[in-house]
This record gives sequence, structure tokens and C-alpha cells, in this order.
Amino acid sequence: MTMKTIQDKLIYSMDAANEPAAVISSGDTICFKTNDCFNCQLRSESDPIGEMDWDHINPATGPVFVEGAHPGDALQVEILDIETDSCGIMCAMPDNGILGDLVTEESIRLLNVADGKVHFNDKITLDCDPMIGVIGVAPAVGAISCGTPDTHGGNMDNTRIRKGAILYLPVFHEGALLAMGDVHAVMGDGEIMVTGVEINAHITVRVTVLPEHAVSTPLLMDKDFCYVISSDENLEKAIYNATLTMNKIVRDRLSMSLNDAGMLMSAAGHLKICQVVDPKRTVTFAMPRKILPSLL
Ligand code: CA
Ligand code: ZN
Repeated sequence: MTMKTIQDKLIYSMDAANEPAAVISSGDTICFKTNDCFNCQLRSESDPIGEMDWDHINPATGPVFVEGAHPGDALQVEILDIETDSCGIMCAMPDNGILGDLVTEESIRLLNVADGKVHFNDKITLDCDPMIGVIGVAPAVGAISCGTPDTHGGNMDNTRIRKGAILYLPVFHEGALLAMGDVHAVMGDGEIMVTGVEINAHITVRVTVLPEHAVSTPLLMDKDFCYVISSDENLEKAIYNATLTMNKIVRDRLSMSLNDAGMLMSAAGHLKICQVVDPKRTVTFAMPRKILPSLL
């Protein structure tokens, strides 16, 4: 049986009005062929960044209509594999990122990615740790640019959304309309200059509907941790919401009071920054699975 592959179907905002690129059943394994965040517009280190078509960046491949996904369900997305291309892209731009005020001229770096390594320069190689920057469903209301993260997912830039992880997304509309893109061969938490090692990729996922498992914000689980992911207009709000949502989950799953769950989180949980450069900021609250075995 050949796996269904979604390719050449790009969206620039997540929106219930998007035409499905494919229809799948709950439990299906499918492949998404994704473009880098610049939509392959930068192919040389001397390309002028300003001349890109900025209306067609941050593409996501999809969306995929998942049969049987109804509002109020959760969509379980198991990341089975992420295979990257051999050319990664990074850039620095004036007024972009945390140090943007100090960047006087733009630069683009094309980085060779081979044998599990990113060749940063003659002296420095980085281990690849591919992750998905943009992944989400049609939001509850209206259209949200693929560059923006929110409760539907989107541009969360969470380094833990990688092979072996399981993401749980809210379902707001029939079919959920799952889409993804913006893979990084590797990215540091924070993504301080606005790019990780941006790269084209093949992502293989298994998608399963979990009926009547309403989740209010994306949740994630890997071998060692359960995570809540929260995005908001500033870090303080994102931190509050991630912490509150995890506190509710710990209270519920471990039958604890707010205080006890809070103290447990304060002793054993980890609040981490995902990114601080997108239109909303994203943080994640991690609890060890030794303490909190599962989220749902
Ligand atoms: Ca991103
Ligand atoms: Zn990216």
C-alpha cells in the first residue's frame, strides 16, 4: 500500500474556509511534503530578502480533512518521521529578532545538511534534530496567518514537536483541517534571530480522532515529558495560561488540590520558552511522565 502524500497544496492561513487538499480516515498514516518558511524563494546567499513575495511565506501543506473529527474532539498527531532536504537556510535582518536593532545589514546563509549534521562553518557542525515549526488546524473563528501561533496550533516553533512526539490539537470544525510546514533541521529554544535552520522536508504522521477529548490549547507528549503549549500576545500571558492549564491537568489526573498541584509543578515541572519572535509568543510547561504519565 502506498502512503498518501500531500504536496504542492499550500495555504498561508489556517481557515475553516480552506478547501481540503485530501480526505483521510482516523488512524491513517500520511506524508506531508513541506516547503521551507521562505517558500523556497531564497536560493542564494546574495538574494535580496526584501524582494521576496512576503504574502507567500510561512506556507503550510494541506489542509487534510480527517473524517469523523467533530468540534469538541481532540486530534492526535503522532510524528513518525521527519526527513529533511540537504540545504538549510538562515538569515539575519535589520529590526528582526531580539538583536534586530543592532543588525545593520541583512545576511543569508545556506547551510549544507548531511549525515545528520548541519555544517555551520569550517569549525562548527550541529547535530540535526528536525522539528515542525508550523502545525495546526482551522481555528475556532476566522483565518489566522500560518506565521501566527494560537490555540489552534500554528507557528508554535516548539523544538519538542519532533519525531516520536504525540501532539494533541483541539478540533474546532468538521474534519479539523490539519496542515503543517516550517520544518527546521535544528532550532534553538527562543529562535532569537527569527530563523532556525529552515528546510524543505517530508513529514510522516499518523492522525487519530479522539472523540470528546476537548483540549483548550495544544498538548504534547514525548518519551519523558507531558507538555502544555500556550501562545499569547506577550510572554507573561502565555506563561500564565500554560501554567494554569497544566495545573488543571495535574489536579484532574492526579486528584490534587490547586495548591498541591502547584507545588508539585513548582518542584518538578519546567516552564520553557519556545519562541519570542512570532506575532504571538509561545511557551511550554513540561511535567515528567514519571509523575504525570499522560495528558488525556
Ligand atoms: Ca516558525
Ligand atoms: Zn521556520
